[in-house]
Amino acid sequence: MAHHDLVVIGSGSGNTFIDERFADWDVAIVEHGVFGGTCLNVGCIPTKMYVYAADVAETVRHASRYGVDATIDKVRWADIRDRVFGRIDPIAKGGLEYRAERSDNVTVYLGHASFTGPRALRVERTDGSGVDEITADQVVVAAGGRPMVPAAIAGAPYETSDTIMRIDELPRRMVIVGGGYIAAEFAHVFSALGTEVTVVVRGSRMLRSHDETVSAAYTELLSERLDVRLATQVTGVTGEAGDLTVALDDGSSVAADVLLVAAGRIPNGDRMNLGAAGIATHSDGRIEVDRFQRTSAERVWALGDVSSPWALKHVANREAKVVGHNLLHPEAPLETDHRNVPSAVFTEPQVASVGKTEEMVRMSGLDYTVKVQRFGDVAFGWAMEDTTGLCKIIAEKGTGRLLGAHIMGPQASTLIQPLIQAMSFGLGAREMATGQYWIHPALPEVVENALLGLEI
Ligand SMILES: Cc1cc2nc3c(=O)[nH]c(=O)nc-3n(C[C@H](O)[C@H](O)[C@H](O)COP(=O)(O)OP(=O)(O)OC[C@H]3O[C@@H](n4cnc5c(N)ncnc54)[C@H](O)[C@@H]3O)c2cc1C
Repeated sequence: MAHHDLVVIGSGSGNTFIDERFADWDVAIVEHGVFGGTCLNVGCIPTKMYVYAADVAETVRHASRYGVDATIDKVRWADIRDRVFGRIDPIAKGGLEYRAERSDNVTVYLGHASFTGPRALRVERTDGSGVDEITADQVVVAAGGRPMVPAAIAGAPYETSDTIMRIDELPRRMVIVGGGYIAAEFAHVFSALGTEVTVVVRGSRMLRSHDETVSAAYTELLSERLDVRLATQVTGVTGEAGDLTVALDDGSSVAADVLLVAAGRIPNGDRMNLGAAGIATHSDGRIEVDRFQRTSAERVWALGDVSSPWALKHVANREAKVVGHNLLHPEAPLETDHRNVPSAVFTEPQVASVGKTEEMVRMSGLDYTVKVQRFGDVAFGWAMEDTTGLCKIIAEKGTGRLLGAHIMGPQASTLIQPLIQAMSFGLGAREMATGQYWIHPALPEVVENALLGLEI
């Protein structure tokens, strides 16, 4: 049985904090899938590379509104796909090689880890060649999550975010199940590239976790462009890939070549025998951690999607930094700051958000003020002929403390950043609006005007 100073389960964010500071630690990384984790291989990065191609297609499609006539001659799916994975696959391969062959103090176990006792693990090798039993002084669980598949779909031919980006041909018709950001991003990608997309959403709105103004406006926009079935569930699927019939609970059915399930994700802790190690979980399966990322088991830490209520890469990265520090400096541990976690949806239009929604502020009983500024009311919005973009800012009445910001429109994921900064450093709405120059006539004027419009 091998013993290590530290075992990290998962090569996504778990692989990011092991640097020269750990040079004299005997470290092991266990990975049962593709090295590098979700963000690199099947998540943030490939999706955004597809989104960029989709955005280009949309730009061409709508160019005539600016007096530039253009048409899309052809969408070369295989080339789009190969651009994405031609970039990503070598990075994953290089990451594995670096750890397995060039990091003297790191051992890589390619296999599935599950606990047999406190800080004791059994690793079933992925190539089927056997089992490794390992123990460690410290264990970091960074095992991420996986797509959730509703029971009515489980036996049918379906794709998930793990598989859809590698398919051989652009489907003619696709049904996407789900109303969150992953479903929305794939709906954008495939519809922009020419697929006929139907979105089946269990709830009454798309992007339900977002502020209600944004979520309602987004749902309305998407429903004008695509076949969006709200408050609807799949009851069964018949046929074969390429010729599927998806039955819905309103009695209707939709024909599709491909069924994509993007109905949420579940943390991977359930497949690791956590009980044997005394690692407690929440009712939704996430590993319980304290503010230092410590689990209920001594010297076992967790980070990222396996434990976090924010299944986002920038959160997993931040938590990884905290765990790295805390392993090295137990006498002066850091806390993870989860106060102003932003998120973005990379669709057309983009959506970005930080802080509380108006509903949350209302429930909290705070005295607040809201301003919704339209992109169409600032000069760059005119240049873009934007008619739907909005920037909603919520601040505390009296003090001007920023409570939340929600943007839907072009470049929302970039426009939100100064608001994240202001909230993170305690800059009030008034100071933020008036204490700096705002480049005219740039798009951030929509943020400036929203701030100025708040009745503090
Ligand atoms: C389609 C999609 C798009 C996304 N887009 C964004 C985005 O734009 N922005 C954003 O912030 N976030 C995005 N995310 C979320 C982001 O990818 C995750 O939050 C992040 O990658 C989580 O990192 P992690 O280190 O917690 O887990 P992961 O990166 O998933 O790493 C966990 C690793 O552990 C391995 N593993 C699991 N169990 C075991 C086991 N028992 N034994 C051995 N190995 C195991 C897995 O194979 C995996 O490699 C997206 C996710 C998806 C699916």
